[in-house]
Amino acid sequence: MIDGPLYVAALKIYPQSVQGTYRRIKWILLCLTLGVYYFLPFVRWYRGPNEPSQAVLVDLANRRFYFFFIEIWPQEVYYLTGLLIIAAMTLFLMNALAGRVWCGYLCPQTVWTDLFYAVERWVEGDRRTRMAQDAAPWTVAIVGRKAVKHFLWLMIAWWTGGAWVLYFSDAPTLVSDLLQFRASADAYIWIGILTLTTYVLAGFMKEQVCLYMCPWPRIQAALTDENALNVTYRYDRGEPRTSLKKAGVLREHGEVAGDCIDCNQCVAVCPTGVDIRQGASLGCIQCGLCIDACDTVMTKIGRETRLIAYDTDVNIQRRQEGKANIFRPIRARTILYAVLIVVIGVVMLYSLLSRQTESISVIHDRNPIYVRLSTGELRNAFTVRLANKKPDMRRFQISVSGLEGARVDVIGGEDAAGGAKIIEVGPDRTREVRLLVTTAAKLPDMAALPIVFEILSLPPAGESLKQGVVPEVALAKDFFRGP
Ligand code: SF4
Ligand code: SF4
Repeated sequence: MIDGPLYVAALKIYPQSVQGTYRRIKWILLCLTLGVYYFLPFVRWYRGPNEPSQAVLVDLANRRFYFFFIEIWPQEVYYLTGLLIIAAMTLFLMNALAGRVWCGYLCPQTVWTDLFYAVERWVEGDRRTRMAQDAAPWTVAIVGRKAVKHFLWLMIAWWTGGAWVLYFSDAPTLVSDLLQFRASADAYIWIGILTLTTYVLAGFMKEQVCLYMCPWPRIQAALTDENALNVTYRYDRGEPRTSLKKAGVLREHGEVAGDCIDCNQCVAVCPTGVDIRQGASLGCIQCGLCIDACDTVMTKIGRETRLIAYDTDVNIQRRQEGKANIFRPIRARTILYAVLIVVIGVVMLYSLLSRQTESISVIHDRNPIYVRLSTGELRNAFTVRLANKKPDMRRFQISVSGLEGARVDVIGGEDAAGGAKIIEVGPDRTREVRLLVTTAAKLPDMAALPIVFEILSLPPAGESLKQGVVPEVALAKDFFRGP
């Protein structure tokens, strides 16, 4: 039998402004993260005359991702996998050291919600004013203030959506096209979708996203341990809580009074409406604002600050046993996460720096698998894709080894001296050709002979290979099949 309703409507939260160390850190990180997000598409990076000059660009049309000096091709999507693993390990490491520090300071939902609250406070006033305004009948002045707030929210949301599409095309050109209504419909549609989602998520849903939509609070709750720093109400010091006046009287009579004066300032500033004094909660994003609020109160009443602080379960236990605080950042799990981050990072960096600037991939024809020519020779056909990852036109000589008496014909390639088959591939491009491999050799029944396709990078037409320069080579393996 269930008592009460299954669903309770969310109570509107009116976070109060607060000043202090963690608020300052949050402002700095907000400016940094939003600054990077909004202006990174305009950073230029010269790659060559015919190459895009945007430092960070997802070029969907040509299927490339550019990140400063790195260019990722579709075949190299494993770099993305590596980056995702590093991101996950970094999140785990942050969690093992300082709980939900990502949620409190860096998560986009937190950053935009923080900005939207700042705008709300600036236009409509602080907590009490906003609460009184919402409780009062609407007047022209109230409607006007709300209209200004929503207009500013929409402007921020629009700029957010606009900045996102700039990562997918040359930013200055796209801005000009957007202003002259010459950009593609896709650009306007995506800006519209992202404007709407930012406006709704940061303006209306706010802490509801953290409480009900985001999986991270549940995951991190399973990952944390007693040595991780978390925003903690030091109940060993705060309890028994009582008013300032009563606490004074109690202390005068030699009785115990906690430092908490039950002023509720820590709850008033909380962007998720949590009372940190009730202990760990999924709603607490660990933003530290209640620390600032309580420090202000403690300073005013002349008590020691950090009644609410980044603390560990271990330390609460130790203080109760009369022992000094300790912090153990180096533990098995933090070492494991750090080692994984370093190892994966080094492997990715090595592979990036040593990767080839050409590649070959081969697909054997499925139907027919082989052809018997009127001369009695056997022929297999392949589709070969060559990739030139350099910003210059290149020539490749292609050959096949592993099959006795093999003759190679390239449909779409050029013949060179000595029967060599040359294929030209444009700068930063791929080229597909058909390759026919023919042999007069007698093969065993049901033969599937391993063969190797090799491309050799040649100097430009008319030039010869410079002395001491080793030509670059790429290989691909497949089979030559017979009846
Ligand atoms: S701000 Fe500090 S003193 Fe005030 S209620 Fe919260 S914990 Fe207690
Ligand atoms: S309880 Fe404190 S740390 Fe947690 S979300 Fe609220 S203000 Fe931030």
